[in-house]
This record gives sequence, C-alpha cells and structure tokens, in this order.
Amino acid sequence: VAEIGAPDRSAITTCAYCGVGCTFRAEMKGDQLVRMVPWKEGKANRGHSCVKGRFAWGYATHRERILNPMIRESIDQPWREVSWEEAFAYAASELKRIQTQYGRLSIGGITSSRCTNEETFLVQKLVRQGFGNNNVDTCARVCHSPTGYGLKTTFGTSAGTQDFDSVEHADVMLVIGANPTDGHPVFASRMKQRLRAKNGQAGAKLIVIDPRRIDMVHSPHIEAAHHLPLRPGTNVAVLTAMAHVIVTEGLADEAFIRERCDWDEYQDWADFVSRPQHSPEFLAPVTGVDPAELRDAARLYATGGNAAIYYGLGVTEHSQGSSTVMAIANLAMATGNIGRPGVGVNPLRGQNNVQGACDMGSFPHELSGYRHISDAETRRLFEQDWGVHLDSEPGLRIPNMLDAAVDGVFKAIYIQGEDILQSDPNTSHVAAGLSAMECVIVHDLFLNETANYAHIFLPGSTFLEKDGTFTNAERRIQPVRKVMEPLNGLADWEVTQELARALDLDWNYAHPSEIMDEIARLTPTFAGVSFARLDELGSIQWPANDAAPKGTPVMHIDGFVRGLGKFVVTDYVPTDEKTGPRFPLLLTTGRILSHYNVGAQTRRTANTAWHPEDRLEIHPQDAEDRGVRDGDWVRLASRSGETTLRALITDRVAPGVVYTTFHHPATQANVVTTDYSDWATNCPEYKVTAVQVIPSNGP
Ligand code: SF4
Repeated sequence: VAEIGAPDRSAITTCAYCGVGCTFRAEMKGDQLVRMVPWKEGKANRGHSCVKGRFAWGYATHRERILNPMIRESIDQPWREVSWEEAFAYAASELKRIQTQYGRLSIGGITSSRCTNEETFLVQKLVRQGFGNNNVDTCARVCHSPTGYGLKTTFGTSAGTQDFDSVEHADVMLVIGANPTDGHPVFASRMKQRLRAKNGQAGAKLIVIDPRRIDMVHSPHIEAAHHLPLRPGTNVAVLTAMAHVIVTEGLADEAFIRERCDWDEYQDWADFVSRPQHSPEFLAPVTGVDPAELRDAARLYATGGNAAIYYGLGVTEHSQGSSTVMAIANLAMATGNIGRPGVGVNPLRGQNNVQGACDMGSFPHELSGYRHISDAETRRLFEQDWGVHLDSEPGLRIPNMLDAAVDGVFKAIYIQGEDILQSDPNTSHVAAGLSAMECVIVHDLFLNETANYAHIFLPGSTFLEKDGTFTNAERRIQPVRKVMEPLNGLADWEVTQELARALDLDWNYAHPSEIMDEIARLTPTFAGVSFARLDELGSIQWPANDAAPKGTPVMHIDGFVRGLGKFVVTDYVPTDEKTGPRFPLLLTTGRILSHYNVGAQTRRTANTAWHPEDRLEIHPQDAEDRGVRDGDWVRLASRSGETTLRALITDRVAPGVVYTTFHHPATQANVVTTDYSDWATNCPEYKVTAVQVIPSNGP
C-alpha cells in the first residue's frame, strides 16, 4: 500500500477464474488495477481467496491484448486493423454470403463459460434469432455437459443440489474425479476445515476415488479414510461395486426410496447391481481397486451419517461420463443422501460461469432454464418475445460442427472467449475443421491458438470492464461490476449486440440489466432475479421466483424437480481406447493451483513463475523401465499425435498411469488425446489416452 498509494476507486465483483466464485474488492489507481482484496461478505469465499483470484489479474492490461478489430481474407495473409464498423460490416456480409451459398445451417456459434450470463444469453440469441438455427454450443461441452444430462435425467435439473455451506453438516465426503486443492482451492479449504477434528468434535470422514493420490488423501491433519486408486476409465465399475455392497448388505434407505423415488426403477437397478459379476471382488481386475477397501468405503458412505459427493471432470470427461453422473445420483438416492444440508451431489464446476453458460441456453438442444427445444410451449414463449420462428430440431454440438466443416457443409463460426484449438481434443482434427471454414470469427482478449485460423478478430474485454453476472457451482448468481472502461471501447455484450445489428436485428440493450430482465422474463428459474435484487441481497441461488423469493440453497428437499427420483441402470462399458504393446500406459490430465485451463490468462501473469511448463508425472518404476530421470525430456506419444515435455517422477500416480496438465501451448497436451467421447453428450474422453513415453532430447 505504501508503494502504490491508496486506490482512487473500487468495486465489489466476482473472480473470473473458477466455479467457486469468490467475491473481491477490485481496487483501481488511475487506469491500473492495483489490488484484488478478498471480500469478507462474499458468500462463497467469506474473505478467502487463492493465488489466481488474488494475484493473477495482470493479463487484464497485458501488452499482448488486442484492442483493435482485425480482418484478413485468408489465413495466410497478414492481419489488417480496421474500425469496429468495418469489422461488423465485413463479418455480417460474410455470414450472409455463406448462408446464401451453403444454406441456413452452415454457420453457428460458441459461447464462453468465462463470459457473463448476459453475454452468453446474447450469443445463443444471436445464433437462434440472427443465424436462424440452433447451432450453438458452449465450452461446457468439453467439461460438464454430462452433469447436465445425468442430473437432469435422475433429479430433473442440471445443477448441483447443495450450497457450499452444506459441507459443514457433512459427516462423510466422497470426492471422486476432482482435485479440489488445485481446482477449487477456496472451497477445498472449507472441506478441509470440516475434515479436521476441532473443539472436541470429530472431523468428517473422507473417501477419495481417483487414479492419483491427490493432496486431500494425505495432507496436514487430514488422512482419507479410504483412497480407491482406480484404473482410469473404470468409474462406473467402481460405483457399481459400491452399489452392490450397499444393496446386498441391506444398507439402502428403503423408506426414502419408497417415498421419493420410482420404486420399480429402483428394484430394476437393485437387481442389476446385486448380480455376482458386480461385486467388488469380481470387478477388481477391471478397476484395480482392493475389494476390501472398496467394501469399507461403500459401508462408510451408506452408514456414516450425512454423506456428500463432490465430483469434477474426472467423472465427466469419459466415454461413460453421463453414466458416471447417473451412477453417483443412484448412490445418493439409494442411501437417502439428498434433500437436506450435508448431503447431495455436488459437481465442482471448472470455469467461473460454466453453470451460468449452461443455464442460459447455450446448448443446441435447450433454451434457457434447460427446456428442450422440441417443447412447443417453450419455443412459443421465445418466438413471441423475439419475433422469430425457432427450429424444433437440436443444432450441432462443437464436435459435430468440426466434423461438418471437414465434410464441407459447415462454413462459418463465431467463437466468443474460447480457444478450441488448445482446449478441445485431437488438435489436428480441430485444425482441419477450422481450416475448412470460410469465415472464422474469434472474439477474445488475445490472439490465441484458434485465432491462427481466424479471418475476423473482435477484441474482447475482461471482467473488470463490464457489468453482468456469473453463476457459481452452487447456483449462486453474483454481480460482476465494471471498474474500468473497456480498453477496446466495447464490452463483450456490446460487441455481440453490434454484430446482431449488422445482421439487421433490432437489438437496443442499453445495459446488461436489461438483458437480465429478458432472461428473467423467459426463464422460470430466474424469474425473481434482477440487478436491483442482486444489489439488495448480494447474490441469489436459483431457482429464484415467487416460490423462492430469496433463492434456493438446497434443492430437492420435499421432492425431486422431476417428481420421483429416477434410478438408471448404468452398465459398465469399457472405453474403446485400449493400451497395448505400442501404447502401454494410460494418460490422464488435470489442472494445477497456479494456472487455469489453457493458461490464456494466468500465463500472462506472475503466476507463471510458479509453474512455467507442463510436466509429465510418471511412476518411479515406469520411469526406471524407460531410463527416464527426473527432469528429463520425454516424448509422449499416442495414436492421435505426440508432444515433448519434461518428466516428473512421483509415486502420486500408480504404475501404468501418467498425468499431465494442459496449461502451456508449447506442450499442447491435447495433441495426444483421442476422439472418443461421452455417449450421451460428446464430452471428450480427456481422462483416458493410451500412450507411450520415450526418452527425448527435447522439443
Ligand atoms: Fe478465484 Fe476460484 Fe481462486 Fe476463488 S478459488 S479466488 S474463484 S480461482
């Protein structure tokens, strides 16, 4: 403070990184952000923060930000700076030309989980109203789309059941496919507080299901009761074995099931999981998990009191991602662990607004509030409001758009705030899809990897430069408040609005609050949300409407949103990605504390000093077998491609498993990942890739 002096203005706003959604006071001096102070009143963080939200904001004014629109006729030409007017006019003329030439369905758009609810709502509206189709998708496609499918199917709504405060009432926590210490640090601290014994009160018990020995398995004052280090790709088998123990040992909560769930469906499921081939012992060769340990973990989950499940992308990013989400929901219903504080099914959302982007109708099959596009009544509501006819058929998902581009029938895309070349699987296929398009519009802060294939670049704005809302992992809608004018002259919602106007749409939003008013008007779960209400309450957890004027911290208390809870038989189906002599190891991927996803933001901050490169974790035995020493360069090869990075020898991973992060473009970890994806949602199977590791001289 002495060095930089007192700030001259500030605003209470929400972190732009992860789904915890910490509140900060952003302090400005002149045209520079000088400090992010964790806000004690923040409901999600209560004055705490991690090294990303607190320190990793230098990207906001980084010299590499692009502040002027640019166009080029082909990607082998240099960029040419143009005025906003010329950029919008050129984009609109290209989109119209392509639709005239190739048809209405030849273009689409991608929304961003880093943008506000209001901005994502506008992008999907632009696609539906302006492009005249449902070819809109969001980056949740590659992370939590199975959560949407699985929880909607079983419970009736695509969201976590609890608020963060609920963890204080948990007696047992089951953490599966998540590494909260790195991915959701502030909430991880709350989990750890509950796991520690204090004031004579016993701490909660912890079960971890993860191929890696994540930090929470064994950290100061915390020892997991059970760690099940399963073979990557066998989540459903492990959960089925746990269900087998619960049902065959008479640990199911039949009173709860009879009252709250479909009893016939439960019986079908119980018959299925009770089969001998679903016992922990029978499945052990598949899962690699000690059957006795698994049995004890299942007993603890079923009988240890309030039991809460927390999960992340280690659940969803599999060919059976949606099945795994439903298997988790089955466990919670079978044991009555739903509908009160301390229990539930809690997806730990990755990006700050992944919940919101999904809520806003960014999927090709759903309008805002998770209402299917085939529902005539819902369509009529939007059609009357927007004055258009809406297609009743779902549009293309991101991977389908890329496939269609390679096939020559999808020709143009508007991508807001996502670097699909780096973040999506099988990089060479993504590049082939983008290369085949005649108009790629990238709307972003930086010339990212995807922009190498773009024809039009529209500069983006940071969370500091706009008003709006983000929705965190506990369905909490929180304000984002402007503390500086957009460096490029336009906030992201204004860019989309101007593009819509260039396409002859009559959009006249004067402020994001008007967009939220429209969202509330069209979305029953948001009916009680407005900027004024958010200023009054600080935040609101949806559903917020006449039935719940102050929002809903815990869902499904008296009944499931869908009526009766639905048990779904989830048969374990092995992934098609197989190890073999050429590719004998299994690669799985994840994040590290100081960085965030593809690193577009954090690599442009001091945080990069803590983790300047991606490393490959490899077990000492596997390293020795290959003559690899700690820090050596290795070649990581799969059937899709190969990359080079340094080895980190650790027994945190089991023999036969290697692990890396995907934060640095020099590594491009997704060069090696496969085309396999979740059967229901196409969420890529990032977590299982058969690979070989070979000593290398470096890149
Ligand atoms: Fe931001 Fe998540 Fe860190 Fe909170 S825990 S400061 S929301 S990155």
